[in-house]
Formats: sequence, C-alpha cells, structure tokens
Amino acid sequence: MPVSSIPSRLDTSVQYLKGVGPKAAQVLAKLGVETVKDLLYCLPFRYEDRRDFRPIGNVRPGEWVTLKGRVVSLDSRNRQGNFTTIRAAIVDGSGAIGLIWFNQRWIKTQLEKHEGEIIVYGQVKEGNYGYEIASPEWETVDPADDASSFARLTPIYRLTEGLSQKLIRKAALTAVASLQPTDIEETLPEELRKANRLQPLVWSIKQVHFPNTEENRLAARRRLVFEEFFVMQLGLAMRRAQTGEEPGIAFEASPTLIEELRSALHFEFTHAQTRVIEEICGDMRRPHPMNRLLQGDVGSGKTAVAAAAMLAAVRSGYQAALMAPTEILAEQHFVSLHQLFEGMGIRVELLVGKQTAKQKKHAIDRTTDGSGDIAIGTHALIQEGVAFKKLGLVVVDEQHRFGVLQRGALRQKGHGNPDVLVMTATPIPRSLTLSLYGDLDLSVLDEMPPGRKQIKTHWKLPTERNTVYEGVRKLLQEGAQAYMVCPLVSESEKMLAQAANELYLRMSQMVFPDFRVGLLHGQLKTREKEEAMEAFRRHEIDVLVSTTVIEVGVDVSNASIMVIEDANRFGLAQLHQLRGRVGRGERQSFCVLIGAANNPDAEARLRVMVETTDGFRISEEDLRIRGPGEMYGTKQSGELELRVADLLMDGKVLEEARQAAVAMVSDDPRLGRPEHARLAIAVRDWSSRIASTDVS
Ligand code: ADP
Ligand code: MG
Repeated sequence: MPVSSIPSRLDTSVQYLKGVGPKAAQVLAKLGVETVKDLLYCLPFRYEDRRDFRPIGNVRPGEWVTLKGRVVSLDSRNRQGNFTTIRAAIVDGSGAIGLIWFNQRWIKTQLEKHEGEIIVYGQVKEGNYGYEIASPEWETVDPADDASSFARLTPIYRLTEGLSQKLIRKAALTAVASLQPTDIEETLPEELRKANRLQPLVWSIKQVHFPNTEENRLAARRRLVFEEFFVMQLGLAMRRAQTGEEPGIAFEASPTLIEELRSALHFEFTHAQTRVIEEICGDMRRPHPMNRLLQGDVGSGKTAVAAAAMLAAVRSGYQAALMAPTEILAEQHFVSLHQLFEGMGIRVELLVGKQTAKQKKHAIDRTTDGSGDIAIGTHALIQEGVAFKKLGLVVVDEQHRFGVLQRGALRQKGHGNPDVLVMTATPIPRSLTLSLYGDLDLSVLDEMPPGRKQIKTHWKLPTERNTVYEGVRKLLQEGAQAYMVCPLVSESEKMLAQAANELYLRMSQMVFPDFRVGLLHGQLKTREKEEAMEAFRRHEIDVLVSTTVIEVGVDVSNASIMVIEDANRFGLAQLHQLRGRVGRGERQSFCVLIGAANNPDAEARLRVMVETTDGFRISEEDLRIRGPGEMYGTKQSGELELRVADLLMDGKVLEEARQAAVAMVSDDPRLGRPEHARLAIAVRDWSSRIASTDVS
C-alpha cells in the first residue's frame, strides 16, 4: 500500500481556492484537476513574455506574437444561417491589427462590455484589410489589475470549454502563493540534488508556474523533468537488478557452438555479430536470467544471432522459442531455421494460427514431450497455447509491442526462469530505448553484412509513374525481381486486399503482361501466402504486388526493386521497414517512392527517405515529426506517458537521470534507506501506473 506523505491541506478541493468556487471546480475537473495538488501539477504548456509587448506596427505575416491593445472596432456578421464571423481591431501607439473569430458570439458580448486593453496571441496573416490574426487566444486586462499580474512571464495553461486563462491562472496563483516548503515533502535527497544541480521541489513548483526570470523557469522545469525521468529510471533499474539476481539457468554456451553454426551458414559473422553473440553467451552462462535487448537496423543479421543463442540453449539440453509479430515472418523464420538446424539434428516446430488443428496438435505434442527443440510461432500462440518440457530461452522478434510488464510475464512460461532476448527490427532513438527498454541490457548490431550496396532511393510524382515502370522493366529484363506495394487506402484488411487486387490487375494485364506477377495480402489463406512467398523466393514470380504484409522481415535476396505507391501516406518507420526488404543481395537495389507532395509532413518524410538509409536518423526524424505518443501508441506504452518531460527535447536530462538512478540502485538496491523513502513511494506509484496502462 503506497503511503502518501502529502499533508491533507493539498488534498482539499480546488473549489475552496480564492476565485474558483464549485462551478469552476467542475470545469477544472474535466482537466483532471480536482485537488490543490492536482492544480500545482497541472503545468503551463507555454509562457508569454508580457514584460515587453511587440509594437503592433512591427509585426510580420507568419509570426506568432503576443500583442496588447485597445479595441477600436467590433462587428459581427451572420452568413448562411448560423455561421457568424466576429471582426475586431486593436490599436496601440504603433499601429492596428485585425482579429477574427468564427461562430463565437459570446466573444462579442464580452468585448462590448469590456473597457480598456486586451492581450491577444496568435499568428499574423496577410488579410484582405491588412494584417490580421484568426482565432487568437485572448484575455482582457482589467484597469484595476496590478501591472505585476500580467507584466511578467505569464503561464499559459491548456484550457477546456468554459475555462479561461484568467481563471486557471488566478487559481494557480492562489495555490502557489500559499504553498509552504513543508507542504510537499522533498522527493530528491539533498546529495543527489547537489550532484545534479537541482533546485528544491517547492521552489520549482512555484517557479514553473510563475517564473521570476527565464533562468528560473528553465531551472524549475529541469528539476521537475529530472524527477520524472529519475523515478522511471529507478523503477527500470530496480527491475533489471532484481531479474539479474534471481536464480536462472547456467547454459554451457561455449565458443565451439559458434564454430558449429558458422560451418552451417553460408557466410562469416560480422564483427558486430560476433561481439553480440559473445555478449549473449556471457549472459547465458551466468546462473541468472538473461534480459537483453538486441537492437539492429533492418538487414543487420539479427536472425543469425538469435540462431546462435537458440543453438546454445538446445546444446545445453533446453528448448527455445522464437516469437514473431506476424505469421508470414514466423513462417519465414521457420523455413530458414529449419533448413539451418536440420543437418545438426535439431528439431524445429512451427506454430501459427491458421494451421489445421491436427498440425497444431502435433507441434504442441512435441514441444510438450520435449522431442521438439525449437518452437517458432506468433506471439499470441506461443504465449497462450503451448506447453514446453524444458523451455530455457525465449527470443522475441518484436515491433515495440511488448511492455515492461509483459516481458516479466513471459518468463512464467519457462522452466526455472528462462533467458529472454528481445530483438527490435527498427532502431529507435536512444531516449526511447532508455524509456521503453531500460529494464534490459543492451546489445547493438551496428554493422551491416559485407557486400551490401547502398540502396538508391528516388521520390517520383504520380505523373511520372510510366517512367518508373520503364525503369523497372529494364531491371526485370536483367533478371531482377520487384516488390510493388499498394496504397494504404484504409485500416481495413479487406479494403487493402481490394487495393492490392486492383494494382495486381493493372500490373499483370497492362504494365507487365509479359512478366510473371504475383499477389500477396493479409486476406489470403496462410497456404496461399506461403505459396506466393515461396514462388517469389524461387524466382517463379518477377513482380510481387503486395500490401504492407511484407513490411516485416521478409527476406528474398534477389529482389532489388521496391516501388511504393502513394508513399506519402506511409509513416517513416513503415517506409524504412519496407525499403529494408531490398538491398539484401549482390544487385544494386532501388527504392522508388511514388507520391504527391500534398502536405508538409508527408513531404518531409519522403525527403528524409531519399536523403538517408540510416535507421537511427530516420527514427529521430520520425519522433520529431510525430511525437512519441503517436509513434508507439500511448495505449501500449504507459512508460511513455510523461507529465512534464519531453523525450525529444530532454534527452540530456534523461541520460543524467539514468546514470544517477543506476548509481543509486547499485548502492541501495531496494531503496530501503530512510532518505530514499519518498523515492520508494514514487517508484511504487510509477509501477502501478504502468501496470494500469500496459496492455497484455
Ligand atoms: P534482420 O536484422 O533485419 O532480421 P536478417 O537476419 O533477416 O536481418 O538478415 C538479413 C540477410 O542478411 C539475410 O539474408 C541473412 O542471411 C544475411 N546475413 C546475415 N548475416 C550475414 C553475414 N554476416 N554475412 C552475410 N550475410 C548475412
Ligand atoms: Mg529480422
């Protein structure tokens, strides 16, 4: 039971604050603000420097500005029934500017009543009658107001219907003004604060709402960001330390295994692969569970590394499981690993949803009685349906789908705490790695297998399609194979299948009637999918028309052309994954992105794709364009729900917090010392928060 040490004074309802009252309290509740404490932690999302307003006469179109002026004209017009436009103009000594609001009659009523100046914020545009700001944020300046209440760095809060900046600001001011240093117990021990140049908590809360200077604002925010990251990193470091101590399996994992594997593969391991395999074998030999993340760009050769780990497990008398995110990928892993291990007397089982009941039963019987050494299947199947005789290693080939807690749950399946190796197909920015995978040890494959030629990427407009097809035709005549990815018309598999069908008809009948064209989409039966993939692999198909089902892991080295239709509709990570399907063999590979330049984000994405094939750079750009919530789906990552911090902006503070957390946990693994009591409570709160947002 988390014991809250916050005095009850801050737990009182905001309605008792000066100027709030029951009605406003109801509105604040919509923002999740019920108590005074909630309000203190409801931080401004931006500030306006109102010590020095811009002269209205100096503004330029495109600029975001805060202006102060007197209302000199006010007028509303009704058009087409209920549609109202309100036009106003304000002046200061230097000039005038127009303001427009749509459909908000109440603004006119309020402005009519108001005498004196107003403050507005918005973007300047060139209008029909000179410069204007459409739908500006605004508030009135009361003549009675003390200049110090607005001539300052003014906090701007998120609003909801019925709530004004003035109201929430006044409430925050009252809450902050009466806040005593003893009201909130300091979370961070003094020593830690000193070492990391962090201000006290109460000071920071006050200054983050009503900063005296820009420096104070930054220092206050940094302190709060640090705390947020620090608690999360403590939680992750504690989990990591705890798994590291639990008893686990000590595999033999001797270097001769690597030799055995090498002779069965048709290539030499890269330095990076050798290094990472050693890291993994080191973990596996220890009598504690391995908990490692293998990060490596598309095509860096993660599968061979996983094979080495699985071989080590099997040779020590255990079973291994490989969980893939899609059926196609599971099937493909099965084909290549079955081939690899067959000659070594190792038995590989496949488990996918669409197998017949009989096939499944056979496979499960063998994993249960131990005659099957390695099981390969989709996440769901291995998690739910399968029993093992002696499971010692779980490899998760994932797409950021597993949360911290789910990884913990996975272990339950095994025999005495199996080792876990998580592989990520897409590189993600370091700040995200630290947040999502901070409970794991990290191995990075930072080297591509030799002989890969840089993929040439082009962006073409839809009007240039025929030229693209001519180019593809030439390469096909030289014996190359091509993927044609159909537009992302909708979320529904059915609609996608239809789009793929249409593209297939166009390709096979009109564009490439003299080549062998195949079709692959999610609505096909497993057997049909398998057949299409197999035919493509054996080069009985020249052009494979497909939906994004080929996005993940599909590996055909003779395929050197990737054409993506309506590429402007795809996200960066997806484009990068798709492009990773080519550039796997000897041929020079090409990726052609066909797409209109119809919005700035899409254009930015296509440009990044043309500029670089570096997955880490692409993921940084992706995070910049989309933000972390969008990138990974907030539902699936309670770890990423941050109140103050910003993963993109605050990467440096995150690193600092991470180091400090690791140091503290190695010093006081259970945070049992009295000076860490507040932190221990905060970490428990963090744990229960991610427990309630993690999906299973
Ligand atoms: P990913 O990391 O994307 O899962 P894969 O494991 O599918 O990459 O490997 C991509 C391709 O590179 C496969 O065809 C694999 O056989 C090949 N490959 C892996 N390692 C090497 C290597 N050291 N030398 C040459 N080819 C390799
Ligand atoms: Mg892979």
